[in-house]
Amino acid sequence: MEIFHISAECYPMVKVGGLADVVGALPKYQAAAGNLVRVVVPCYDTKFKKENNFECVHWGNVKLGNFDFPFSVLKETSNKLGYELYLIEIKELFDRPNVYGYEDDIERFFSFQIATLDWLLARKTIPDVINCHDHHTGLVPFLLKYAYKYESLKSVRTVITIHNGLYQGWFGFDKLHYLPEFDLIHVGFLEWGSSLNSLAVGVKCAHAVTTVSPSYLNEINYSANGLESLFNSVQSKSKGILNGIDIEVWDPSKDKMIVQNYSIDSFEVGKQMNKENLCEQFELDPGKPLFSFIGRLFEEKGGDLLPQASALALSENFENINILILGSGNSLIEEQLMQLRNDYKGNYNVFIGYNEELAHLIYAGSDYILMPSRVEPCGLNQMYALRYGTIPIVRRTGGLRDTVVDFGDNGNGICHDQASVGDICYSINRAVKLYDDKINLNKVIKTGMSIDHSWERVCQEYIEIYNLIIEKNEV
Ligand code: ADP
Repeated sequence: MEIFHISAECYPMVKVGGLADVVGALPKYQAAAGNLVRVVVPCYDTKFKKENNFECVHWGNVKLGNFDFPFSVLKETSNKLGYELYLIEIKELFDRPNVYGYEDDIERFFSFQIATLDWLLARKTIPDVINCHDHHTGLVPFLLKYAYKYESLKSVRTVITIHNGLYQGWFGFDKLHYLPEFDLIHVGFLEWGSSLNSLAVGVKCAHAVTTVSPSYLNEINYSANGLESLFNSVQSKSKGILNGIDIEVWDPSKDKMIVQNYSIDSFEVGKQMNKENLCEQFELDPGKPLFSFIGRLFEEKGGDLLPQASALALSENFENINILILGSGNSLIEEQLMQLRNDYKGNYNVFIGYNEELAHLIYAGSDYILMPSRVEPCGLNQMYALRYGTIPIVRRTGGLRDTVVDFGDNGNGICHDQASVGDICYSINRAVKLYDDKINLNKVIKTGMSIDHSWERVCQEYIEIYNLIIEKNEV
């Protein structure tokens, strides 16, 4: 089967969050299972782009209303990723340091989608399936069905995978003329509420919809930033598939980004050595339990609760714990977290920014990972933490509900129900007690380390969906 993944992110070319990890790994396992798999992402100005070789396989012009953007399709030449990686190079729009957050994001991702389809149109072969990811690629299923110029690609089956339904790519009717010509009778597919909505378009027009965990699929029926009734109406073509993790990239026994490698048989010594290094870097005490947070500092992640929860937990347990935070996002949260450094020097530290290597060391060297998320479609941090013998402390929501079971129920983590300072601190207190009970602590760690979250197991579920929609052959 020939499968295309179209996405705004793909690790190691470009990563902002979990979307990149998934699009960097799932295709690799699908290819290893015998499929022809290609990934298409925009060509940003990243380290990976600079350090690797590419050949130009196609060029053309994207027409966006009055705008005309020249584009090239670049193929990574070594094929070392395990799948073919293609970059859509539109210099004017993507040769920038950040992935998102520009005023012309609509123009950028419209152009990306249209350039990708123009290239597919020019290729001699027609793929079996296009797997779109999130709203940045939500127009693709619509364009394939209804834009006149893509008529010959109509047989391609489409799936949209929702990694985060909060972000939807809204745009106004004034941008409608950017799209390649289609019969206006179908304009309703583009609308949601009083505007046009890229994610809603994808959900309406794709042959199948997947979410990145089963619990998240349930949740979006009653909480989806305005799309609840839409998700309700497409239940029969939807499935929640729990993300896997790339066990080659995330392997404590081989990880080159950590100080000491270890396995389930040597985690006590191995983790302690990583912890000592981490504590030295951040002036923390390696003799005390280390609670860490890695992620985007936004309300969605419970980031707004972290300053108060850290202050309260530290004042209650001042001599007993360390807290370390790695992340960036809301500037007020960042500022509050920075201020705490003065009050709890020696027990608390924060690194504002994005740092892949540090994230690996934190997974390896921490005792607990905090995930007080309000919304967590899947969450990868808890799965990485489990594999690295670090106990997740999570709010029961989305994928966290599907992957973490409280140690009180013979599980692998610590769970609470409310996204509140009180619940976080209650869980931290339970964790401090567990830390002193080494027999039970090690049992919980080993339970977590033995779980198989690999893509090998999961990627077949995507193939089953692809086969189903190919067999059905619905218009
Ligand atoms: P998201 O909602 O951000 O996609 P996920 O849990 O699905 O959340 O994935 C987050 C990914 O991004 C993980 O690989 C995590 O380690 C990584 N990550 C998040 N913030 C940072 C950061 N500041 N530095 C390094 N890695 C980070």
